[in-house]
Amino acid sequence: MKSFSIAVLAGDGIGPEITREAIKVLELIEERNDVKFELLPAAFGACAYFEFGDAFPQSTIDICDRADAILKGPIGLNHEDSKRIPIDKQPERGALLPLRRRYNTYANFRPVSLPKDLAHFSPLKPEVIGEGIDLVMVRELVGGLYFGEKIAGVNEAGLRYVKESLEYDENQIQQILHQAFKLASKRKKVLHNIHKSNVLKSSVLWNEVLGEVAVDYPEVEVIHILVDAAATLLCLNPTQFDVMVMENMFGDILSDQGGGILGSLGLMPSACLGDEKAYYEPSHGSAPDIAGKNIANPYSMIGSVAMMLENSFAMEEEAKNVWTAMQGVFADGYSTADLSKPGSGVQMIGTDEFGDKVVEKLRAMPVVS
Ligand code: NAD
Repeated sequence: MKSFSIAVLAGDGIGPEITREAIKVLELIEERNDVKFELLPAAFGACAYFEFGDAFPQSTIDICDRADAILKGPIGLNHEDSKRIPIDKQPERGALLPLRRRYNTYANFRPVSLPKDLAHFSPLKPEVIGEGIDLVMVRELVGGLYFGEKIAGVNEAGLRYVKESLEYDENQIQQILHQAFKLASKRKKVLHNIHKSNVLKSSVLWNEVLGEVAVDYPEVEVIHILVDAAATLLCLNPTQFDVMVMENMFGDILSDQGGGILGSLGLMPSACLGDEKAYYEPSHGSAPDIAGKNIANPYSMIGSVAMMLENSFAMEEEAKNVWTAMQGVFADGYSTADLSKPGSGVQMIGTDEFGDKVVEKLRAMPVVS
């Protein structure tokens, strides 16, 4: 029997609710496959700060170090509550960026996917969605503005001043581009390169390196698009995209727009892969506005489990089953509160019911070994 340990960082806000549903799915997968998951819960984010004085405490680092993979819920507090934590200890700066840095999880894959029969969830017109949206955003995750040098203080003119640096070296750019080209090779062999080379020198270097890496993938057509234009085209014509690659901050922003064109960030799981370790998380935040109400959509967290099965445990077939089960629940006419308005002809279900229905569907599917 195969055995894997998983650090489970439920996080803040809706994190614990959606993590609970993801664990239901993992337990069923264990039951119906020759596999054992050792779940290792650990505190991470604002909850960890309040308990241990550190958003990424040593006890959690030790658990993540020994785990085969990390399943992470969203972290963070609302704007006002954030002020209860010193700036450098706040969840993103104190936990998320250190997690990414520690395991060098440079390759972030964010599928933006909505099959045709679920197109009614999207705010886009049916004729724009056509046969459905199915693209992957590949985001560089450990470089750029978020990880560059930061200086804050008072400048020579006596004004409050801040300087943040956007840094990349050619190796960092190469490694993410190889990941994107490999994915494009396996899919439609088209790679949209999202950049801002008309303004940013970092994009000029990015594009130069892309030209060199592209030589290894002659089968892949590269299409260059400026990031601002890409934002518009995602709304006007999302089906032209298949694999999109971009630097860290562009990916942060455009992938939230990806959630927007699907109808909710609750449909946005992700995989964050390094060469040695990977972690999996919803692309969205902790949604403090809906926490504790049993209305969060756990699709993003269960989808992150599917990505973990595929990428960390080589369980591709079971991963496909999880996607099919989740989409099947929606296709049966159910909806979570983020995706539909009451009275729109769907049957509204809560966070836990969605998890239960996914489990029920998955249980009914044959196991392919
Ligand atoms: P958010 O992503 O938490 O929420 C934006 C909107 O989407 C909200 O209306 C929310 O209710 C909704 N939403 C998000 N996920 C949902 C789900 N699964 N089901 C239904 N609705 C969902 O963004 P925010 O409100 O700007 O940020 C809240 C906190 O999350 C902040 O502290 C922020 O720093 C943090 N954050 C963390 C991560 C992370 O852990 N990787 C990512 C982004 C933001």
